[in-house]
Amino acid sequence: MAQKSDGLYVVFTGAPGCGKGTQARILKEKTGVVHLSTGEMLREYAEKDTALGRDLKAALERGEFATDEMIIEMVKSRIAEPDCKKGFILDGFPRTLPQAEVLDKLLATQDVKLNCVLEIQVPDEIIMERILGRYSCMTCGAGYHDKFLKPKVYGVCDVCGGTEFSRRQDDNQTTVHNRLVNYRLLTYPTIPFFEKKGLLKTVDGTGSIEAVSKKIHEILLGDLIEK
Ligand code: AMP
Repeated sequence: MAQKSDGLYVVFTGAPGCGKGTQARILKEKTGVVHLSTGEMLREYAEKDTALGRDLKAALERGEFATDEMIIEMVKSRIAEPDCKKGFILDGFPRTLPQAEVLDKLLATQDVKLNCVLEIQVPDEIIMERILGRYSCMTCGAGYHDKFLKPKVYGVCDVCGGTEFSRRQDDNQTTVHNRLVNYRLLTYPTIPFFEKKGLLKTVDGTGSIEAVSKKIHEILLGDLIEK
């Protein structure tokens, strides 16, 4: 995984609910590298009371993707910011082949090489259960799950003591089904694209959060140490 530029440049990919966001947040805590979630950026946009915000909100609720043009502009300007100079953890981008091609060209012009595209693999039946049970603290964003990760005290966030929680509007059965179909049709073709470039690593995402992050850190940070 030779890399010309200093820093950690990683893409987390995989089906919705595979744990990309959770693992990206843990890696950010460990390394201090910026975590860029295009889903979070879009959810912020969708809260705006503008025509674009309203259209986007409706599209996300149907499980549809935002347009490549919009996403590419958003990511281009975000990774040009100074906090991305030491690297970034991309979560949810690239999600289509055109996005992957643009990222590849963009990084080449900046003399930045991706360390790795990490695919977190989880079977569809587990994904449904994970997504339908997840929720987060409205104050600090800490993530929980009805079955797998309950707060220590019922109704109270372990991290900040907040007592209000919310679920994502696109975490319902119909939308998750559409998101999985879109993943297979539109995102999966990016896997062989990165594999051909020698960048792809895969990790089994079915274990506990801690077990999966241990494997991810071995792959990503172990390799960097060896370098
Ligand atoms: P996520 O938080 O990664 O699950 O993303 C939530 C939703 O935002 C997805 O289901 C898509 O509708 C949309 N989205 C996120 N990233 C992208 C992207 N790179 N391209 C197109 N749509 C995206």
